[in-house]
Amino acid sequence: MARRGGRGWYGRVLAAAVGVTAVAAATSVWSAQAGPVESRSGRVEAAARPFRPHARGPAGVPVSVAIAHASDHGARGVDITVDDGPDPVWTPRVLKVLREYGVKATFCMVGTQAQAHPDLVRAVVAAGHRLCDHTVSHDTTMDTKSESYQARQILDAERMITKASGGVRPQYYRAPGGAFTPYSRELAASHGMRPLGWNVDTKDFERPGTDVLVATVKQEISNGPTVLFHDGGGDRSQTVRALREILPWLKRQGYSFGFPVR
Ligand SMILES: [Zn+2]
Repeated sequence: MARRGGRGWYGRVLAAAVGVTAVAAATSVWSAQAGPVESRSGRVEAAARPFRPHARGPAGVPVSVAIAHASDHGARGVDITVDDGPDPVWTPRVLKVLREYGVKATFCMVGTQAQAHPDLVRAVVAAGHRLCDHTVSHDTTMDTKSESYQARQILDAERMITKASGGVRPQYYRAPGGAFTPYSRELAASHGMRPLGWNVDTKDFERPGTDVLVATVKQEISNGPTVLFHDGGGDRSQTVRALREILPWLKRQGYSFGFPVR
């Protein structure tokens, strides 16, 4: 797809990868602060309204509006997250590797992709993985757009993914390129979707080679548990090969695989 062809899109992803940690660090003070919060990447979240640390989810259960990075498996947990699918070529191959190593992952799906491939959405759910809303059209500038636009991007994708899955709702919301806003995080949380960041960006979309992908995870897993891969957006053969190497390596290091905290 053309929107994935340019460097610009991925450049934003890179910038956001550095930014999310700073944003997360800032969330603890957001409730007491009215001004904009600037991340290390320069991305600014304009805090235009009084900020609530939790939003009431659909079942009445409060969901945090803070961007999640931690694993529900604790200090030696790893959260594999797989973005931009589902894709008819690569999602089945990713699912196969995950199955071989008994790993459950979180799939951040683009709404239109889910709508086009409901069989893959159902396969992801049937294998015990979790769903994450990654908006309708993957607009990495959505943090500069109106609230009504952000709402459509998030809620339409939620409906598309839930319909495709046969009624299983996404449990997380990951903004494209990390383009979160206080509004979008609160909206997602009020629909039961925890905003989801990442700690290790494999940059698999740049196709640097399987060895580089593996080395990146080995070097950066100490940064935090949530690792970002992609099953959409192009040839993901390096991603599949890297998973085949890194999953057993992580197990040998004593890590276990979980989901991002909710
Ligand atoms: Zn993405």
